[in-house]
Amino acid sequence: MDEPRRRAYLEALGIPVWVPRARDGDAPAVAIAEAGDAPPDGASGRAPKLRPTPPEGRAEASNARTVGGAASTFEAIAGLDWEGLRARVAACTACELHRTRTQTVFGVGNPSARLMVIGEAPGADEDRQGEPFVGRAGRLLDAMLQAIGLPRGEVYIANVLKCRPPGNRNPSLEEAACCEGFLRRQIALIAPTLILSVGGIAARNLLGTDTPVGRLRGVVHAYGEERVPVLVTYHPAYLLRQPEEKAKAWQDLQLAARRLRGAG
Ligand code: SF4
Repeated sequence: MDEPRRRAYLEALGIPVWVPRARDGDAPAVAIAEAGDAPPDGASGRAPKLRPTPPEGRAEASNARTVGGAASTFEAIAGLDWEGLRARVAACTACELHRTRTQTVFGVGNPSARLMVIGEAPGADEDRQGEPFVGRAGRLLDAMLQAIGLPRGEVYIANVLKCRPPGNRNPSLEEAACCEGFLRRQIALIAPTLILSVGGIAARNLLGTDTPVGRLRGVVHAYGEERVPVLVTYHPAYLLRQPEEKAKAWQDLQLAARRLRGAG
């Protein structure tokens, strides 16, 4: 993307244009750490301590759980192609959220995407339209992705939960666990270069930690046995409420763009 266009996107986001503070030529204004270095705004000065992802014990327990019926285990889901997975999600009644949903919200985008964006759960607009990240938060996410040169159609967007929690409450651990196999299979089918986890609920489920987003961002984490790189940033709905945090989200997106270029 050319510079004027990039700046126009950033202005539309309400993000002051970030200019590297060149000291002797190359020192960036904001240092962004890799795993093992200090997080950008962590109080402790140490990278947050995470459980292995997914926790080995949890993975074994999860594999024994039934999903969508007694015969549907994680092993069965792991063998599904896109069509089979979509059908399994659409018919799923594994947790109570199926009672109040309008429809399941499977995911959308390029099945060969290098970047996979993962949020928490459908909201009212998503439940109505059957697509993740629509409405105001979705438009903000689209603009943020555009700002790093990625149109919505080039990435894959999904949520941890495929059904809307009533009243937009946070999903319970049990509900997230019931749905985990579907997301795990989506990630396996896409095999993304990078996952961008947006919001605390997504980070909790992908990384197995309750560490706040502010202390997870700026560090490259890993998901699953394949150790898919994961970056954490704020949920666009949160950014709409806290616009002063947009600049940090922009830093996170720049880090994501560098990782995708193989330069971060
Ligand atoms: Fe099934 Fe997931 Fe919907 Fe629960 S949230 S009913 S596990 S698809």
